Amino acid sequence: MTGGAGYVGSVSAEALLAAGHETVVLDDLTTGHRGAVPPGATLHVGTYTNRDALARLLEVERVEAILHCAARSLVGESIVDPARYYNENVAGGVALLDAARAAGVQRVVFSSTAAVYGVPDTTPIPEDAPLRPINPYGESKRAFESALGWYGRAYGLRSVSLRYFNVAGASAASGEAHDPETHLIPNVLAAAEGRRELTVFGDDYATPDGTCIRDYIHVSDLADAHIRAIDATAADDPRTAEPLVCNLGSGGGFSVREIIAAAESTVGRTIPFEIGPRRVGDPPVLVASSARAAEVLGWRSERPSLDQMVGSAWAWRQSHPDGYPD
Ligand code: UDP
Repeated sequence: MTGGAGYVGSVSAEALLAAGHETVVLDDLTTGHRGAVPPGATLHVGTYTNRDALARLLEVERVEAILHCAARSLVGESIVDPARYYNENVAGGVALLDAARAAGVQRVVFSSTAAVYGVPDTTPIPEDAPLRPINPYGESKRAFESALGWYGRAYGLRSVSLRYFNVAGASAASGEAHDPETHLIPNVLAAAEGRRELTVFGDDYATPDGTCIRDYIHVSDLADAHIRAIDATAADDPRTAEPLVCNLGSGGGFSVREIIAAAESTVGRTIPFEIGPRRVGDPPVLVASSARAAEVLGWRSERPSLDQMVGSAWAWRQSHPDGYPD
């Protein structure tokens, strides 16, 4: 798998190992952490964007299926530096697909994003909603999904793309440690620890409490979906006779104020915050329909409550007060 030293990737690597899969991680450690790679997985430090080197690695390690979690994934960065997103996520992604072809690997699961939808017309968003990404990050993921589709038709590659919004929570061993951190839940918990000031980006949206609603999914539920998706790419599995795309979400959603309230009850004290202006590009409500994932992959969120998500994130921070050593 690529990106196994990152947040989603490391928890997915743990789940792969727990499901009995031999797991090889390829990660360049630019945003991931060596310490996040679970014991039992083989780490290769390097990039997936070098076709020949990756083809050799796939052959040497006798890889049967690729879980592609590595990517540049910051919306703001993608707007000021789109070249990075096109070069790594799109051109690098094509190099990965060509390496897979060269090495005879016919199975790919892609950790995509609901950012491919842009601002949806309806919520919960179904998979056949129009794809109108509003930033280069979402566009780069959309482009790679398209490549998966065309490579599938032409070369028989079997693929699943998983589109999800806000990942939250932690396993016992792996949690969220981004630098810089932009996400709401870690920022709220850092404010609870007195490490940073918290700003709520707008409370004048057309939502019940005025703050934005997002679909939060527990990272361990996401890892479970990745394993199910890999199983679905097995040769002759009718579910991937055509490229499969599934949303992952809770079907509901939580507002920024609800997250803060859940964190206050988890940590047992009031968390100070101020209301700031809206953040550019934030739609009021983003919630996905997970009906297809339930029907086709047999997946559903096993940890849908905020207590489970915020509680496990808080527990991980308590056991890793300085994040990962590296
Ligand atoms: N948000 C906020 N303060 C923060 C970080 C995020 O109010 O310090 C809001 C943000 O405007 C959005 C929601 O929390 O409405 C989730 O943002 P996040 O960056 O975690 O994920 P996104 O939805 O952008 O993928």
